[in-house]
Amino acid sequence: MAAGSIRDAVNGCGACEGNAPVRELGELKGCTRAGTSCGSCVPMLKKLLEGELTKSGVEVSKALCEHIELSRQELFDAIRVLELTSFEEIMAKYGTGSGCDICKPTIANILASQNSAYVLDAGRGTLQDTNDRALANMQKDGTYSVVPRIAGGEITPKKLGVIAAVAEQYGLYTKITGGQRIDMFGARLEQLPEIWKLLVDAGFESGQAYGKSLRTVKSCVGSTWCRFGVQDSVAMAIQLELRYRGLRSPHKLKMGVSGCARECAEARGKDVGVIATADGWNLYVGGNGGATPAHAQLLAKDLDDETLIRYIDRYFMYYIRTADRLQRTARWQEELDGGIRHVEDVVVHDTLGIAADLEAAMAKHVDTYVDEWADTLKDPERLRRFRSFVNAPDQKDDSITFVSDDRGQMRPATAEEKALALQQPVLIGASIPVRAAAPELLDKNEV
Ligand code: SF4
Repeated sequence: MAAGSIRDAVNGCGACEGNAPVRELGELKGCTRAGTSCGSCVPMLKKLLEGELTKSGVEVSKALCEHIELSRQELFDAIRVLELTSFEEIMAKYGTGSGCDICKPTIANILASQNSAYVLDAGRGTLQDTNDRALANMQKDGTYSVVPRIAGGEITPKKLGVIAAVAEQYGLYTKITGGQRIDMFGARLEQLPEIWKLLVDAGFESGQAYGKSLRTVKSCVGSTWCRFGVQDSVAMAIQLELRYRGLRSPHKLKMGVSGCARECAEARGKDVGVIATADGWNLYVGGNGGATPAHAQLLAKDLDDETLIRYIDRYFMYYIRTADRLQRTARWQEELDGGIRHVEDVVVHDTLGIAADLEAAMAKHVDTYVDEWADTLKDPERLRRFRSFVNAPDQKDDSITFVSDDRGQMRPATAEEKALALQQPVLIGASIPVRAAAPELLDKNEV
């Protein structure tokens, strides 16, 4: 939908009874249907709404949602200063009602950013988004994907063999991701602990592909192998990924490290991009892909390793503390008064006098990081969450069915294919049963 049509809707386009102007994001989504599919345009929608309201002289509320009057930044600071650790405490002090799908995951996210406590303990599991609750990404057929961390995209042949063996054993679809790791699709909820046990025993850990957290640090081969490389980009990428793994943030975070200006790791398309120079590293910040792509902007040049990491610590923590919910770094930077120059003042020149505090917060994160899947496997109580049927923990979900594709892998069966595989009637219209003609063509996943 064009921006002009959204603006018209905000101001009362005449399509609705009474031609009333729109004041709330939910109302605008309902009226225009914009932002109701993948949701990637919601931040833009919100911006258009706020712009039109401001032009009309209407005060724009910064409230997180209808239950919490504070903005995300104000709430983050309040929780940090008062050292609040539970949803109940926070709602008692700053909220009304029992919360919603905006404030619950936001509070869970803030608590996870400030404390490295297990994200599903102490009632926090019910606050989380669907993917966080399963420590895995739910797919369109109700199965989950498994994504182990492969720091910097570097992996030994032996560990590649482990992934291959696990995927073979559980009949999983495998795909290399854009972040230089391997995604395994098609795991049922109750299979996740078994699969992760094999992976953790082989030295893997959660890649947190499900979280609003650091995803990957992509790298090129750098000076070790490449004739043009001027720094060891793989070693730096691994160092950065191991430092910031598990860091929960307002949105997912991606990084890239290139070994020279040719930029093979596409670092400037990342939230934080690092590009080698003859004298050290150039640091770029605020790059995003997504619906509104942005190139990262140069923050500092020719940094040594230590200074580079110090600046990234400060940058990430400042973003985590001050961004809006679901706001990526590019939009956050754009909306800061002063933009990249303000970021430079805070991160490089420490004009707010908070650099030491930001660094200390990051040091706490690094010191207290634990792998969520290893932690889950140690605790029978935590494992109880991974059951397809609460009353029948050993029962698998028979509605999940796969078929072989023509590229030697499997994919989710369509509704018609499932009916064929299960030899069940397909209901057409009211109730006309149709029997499968050739069920042998289909593979029902039995793993
Ligand atoms: S970015 Fe430079 S060092 Fe890295 S692979 Fe490309 S040419 Fe080689």
